[in-house]
Amino acid sequence: SFLEYAPAPESRAILSLRDEYGLFIDGEFVDGRGTPFQSVSPASEERIATIANANAADVDDAVAAARRAHDRVWSRMTGRDRGKYLFRIARLVQERARELAVAESLDNGKPIKESRDVDVPLVAAWFFYYAGWADKLDYAGLGANPKALGVAAQVIPWNFPLLMLAWKIAPALAAGNTVVLKPAETTPLTALIFAEIVQQADLPQGVVNIITGAGDTGAALVGHDGVDKVAFTGSTAVGRAIAKQVAGTHKKVTLELGGKAANIVFDDAPIDQAVEGIVNGIFFNQGHVCCAGSRLLVQESIHDEVVERLKQRLSTLRLGDPLDKNTDIGAINSREQLERIRELSDAGVAEGAERWSAPCEIPENGFWYAPTIFTNVQTSNRIAREEIFGPVLSVLTFRTPQEAIAKANNTPYGLSAGIWTDKGSRILAVADQLRAGVVWANTFNRFDPSSPFGGYKESGYGREGGRHGLGAYLSPASVTSTGRGTPR
Ligand code: NAD
Repeated sequence: SFLEYAPAPESRAILSLRDEYGLFIDGEFVDGRGTPFQSVSPASEERIATIANANAADVDDAVAAARRAHDRVWSRMTGRDRGKYLFRIARLVQERARELAVAESLDNGKPIKESRDVDVPLVAAWFFYYAGWADKLDYAGLGANPKALGVAAQVIPWNFPLLMLAWKIAPALAAGNTVVLKPAETTPLTALIFAEIVQQADLPQGVVNIITGAGDTGAALVGHDGVDKVAFTGSTAVGRAIAKQVAGTHKKVTLELGGKAANIVFDDAPIDQAVEGIVNGIFFNQGHVCCAGSRLLVQESIHDEVVERLKQRLSTLRLGDPLDKNTDIGAINSREQLERIRELSDAGVAEGAERWSAPCEIPENGFWYAPTIFTNVQTSNRIAREEIFGPVLSVLTFRTPQEAIAKANNTPYGLSAGIWTDKGSRILAVADQLRAGVVWANTFNRFDPSSPFGGYKESGYGREGGRHGLGAYLSPASVTSTGRGTPR
């Protein structure tokens, strides 16, 4: 349960933001040499703060700081000591949980009940989990001590700004790497507050560096010679560009990319639970979720009933102010993303699918899209194939389990999938045949730091979370010796 990581009661309730944020390099906030940009609330289009922009020289400084910290301090420290710093970060995240949740909802547009009950508690959980791993790496056995890779370049998207930061930074640090992380340009705020937490935790300078900027800053970081590992979460298009950029270099790479998950509902499914799961699967975080259940595959015999129930349920959702704790559907993160959603949704209508949108009142300012369902969708339609990354569900039908599996796998992606059925044996049989890295049964969008997360096919490669996530930041080193005086 998320609740066990819930914030302590003495949490600070007030958000005190700076008017301008610098880059966080070598333990300090410094000016960027690029042209600063504004962070804007997607719910009101109001300016939140001015954000520094890192150019290539700033990237050099950040990578150099991370290298010094790695070589002189972090890689020489025992795992137990690294773990203590990570525990400290986890506790500081809990102490500043309300502030972080408010900042996240302000900057990203997601409902406060999600940032408060899901994002921020999971951030703390991730740091607690990997803090516990740090000392387990010491004394792993003669000749088998895994070594850190070195300096990690980490580039993350805007949908779970602080949680994606935790997914990147916690395992990297536990394993003895130092990092330079770049948040997405539309959601830099919580990464910068996290930099304050790094200072509060008294982490040795240079172990964590946060640089802000757009894609050019990300490309300069990923392409930097001083980087040993690249960890990227974002679109498949940029992931492909990064894979090309680092091909043939010494850099190790993990890519967490897009998805077009099938949520499969069999006619024996517990229907109330399934309807809630479908809604959570695609409308959580406005559908800005890589593993969102964006393709509903429903058994033909229950199609009409499920669609009717979905429409009733969606009519009760409240869209509006992300900071209101009763809000279910927040703002779309940017105008650009809103336009992408509109374009794909309109393509669905043009291709003959039937569109239904929840009867929400749309606020005057900001970026909004009402929860939308498409029925009468063909597998060849763009809305059934392309990632919309918004609150839009495409409903398709099937008759037999084999047809469901074939349709679910009929996608270039392979990140996640959902199964709703009363039969345990069917869960096992279907899950086994799905080409998806994460399968949920009678639930959806559940995350735990101990579970590996990642995709098949164009959803990327490598896994984050669990032991596998730690392995992505380690290189096993085999040392063999006969030892002095050992008879040969
Ligand atoms: P994006 O690829 O446009 O941007 C992601 C990050 O990459 C941003 O920080 C951006 O500034 C940076 N970037 C852009 N061009 C770059 C370049 N050439 N080199 C280096 N960095 C560059 O993606 P987005 O729109 O921010 O995020 C949405 C996408 O992320 C969706 O496709 C979604 O599925 C995916 N996503 C995947 C996961 C996962 O774990 N698989 C999780 C969350 C989001």
